[in-house]
Amino acid sequence: MRLDGKVALISGGARGMGAEEARLFAQEGAKVVIGDVLDEEGSKTEAEINETGGEALFVTLDVTQEESWRGAVEAAVARFGTRNVLVNNAGIGGVRSGEGPILLEDAPVEDWDRVMDVNAKGVFLGTKHVIPAMRAAGGGSIINISSMAGIVALPGSSGSGAYNASKGAVRLLTKFTAIQYASEGIRCNSVHPGWIDTPMTESAMADPERRAQWMEYTPLGRIGVPRDIANGVLFLASDESSYMTGSELVIDGGVTAH
Ligand code: NAD
Repeated sequence: MRLDGKVALISGGARGMGAEEARLFAQEGAKVVIGDVLDEEGSKTEAEINETGGEALFVTLDVTQEESWRGAVEAAVARFGTRNVLVNNAGIGGVRSGEGPILLEDAPVEDWDRVMDVNAKGVFLGTKHVIPAMRAAGGGSIINISSMAGIVALPGSSGSGAYNASKGAVRLLTKFTAIQYASEGIRCNSVHPGWIDTPMTESAMADPERRAQWMEYTPLGRIGVPRDIANGVLFLASDESSYMTGSELVIDGGVTAH
């Protein structure tokens, strides 16, 4: 199996893309730690994996809190002994549920802080707290979930700018991490999904006009599914990508080729 001997921590793994990555990783032989603020959904995903022949552990994790990361990493090491894959997947959208995109000049500062806290600081803290365990394991792979919004700004799709800024930060923090830790066998790459059908995009996708607009703007002509992203993350987690670090894996149906 492609992830035999690997132990992976996936932040935001309770639902959406993170849960799909957890399921796929477990199928490929990894032991999986799911960290999320959603206890009920996280426990459900944990149970589903354990009942279908995989090995998973759910831990409560708020990626914005340093103490929370300490606890999650300790719990994970105590249960599975090592740590060699980290997927910094937890994230929030730039548009509050039920609201449309707003102008930057009208954006409340709290919205900026909230998005930067989860999407950018969360990745920094996760990386910071997992690196020592990865070093002890003799190396590892960090996969940071950015977005096509970390490469281009698409008007009307990502709120007031904070989402773009946060995902751009993730893209560059990835490169910094890659060069700082390459000599220790720790790789770090970013993934840039396009529009994917998950709970995050549910309310936007429920608007037929918006969905049609997104599909029209996607050269491959469809909205992505979580498995499209999980397949790429699996590759980056596995040794098949052992000569890749600091790179950007774009999985967006061709949107950023425009
Ligand atoms: P989702 O909302 O379904 O899942 C995100 C998960 O992150 C949830 O389980 C949520 O509880 C968790 N989370 C949020 N805040 C957290 C916190 N403070 N601590 C711990 N966990 C937290 O969304 P998704 O679409 O699966 O998104 C996964 C990642 O992909 C995000 O980083 C998102 O920005 C990115 N992304 C999504 C899309 C898309 O179209 N869905 C496109 C590009 C990038």
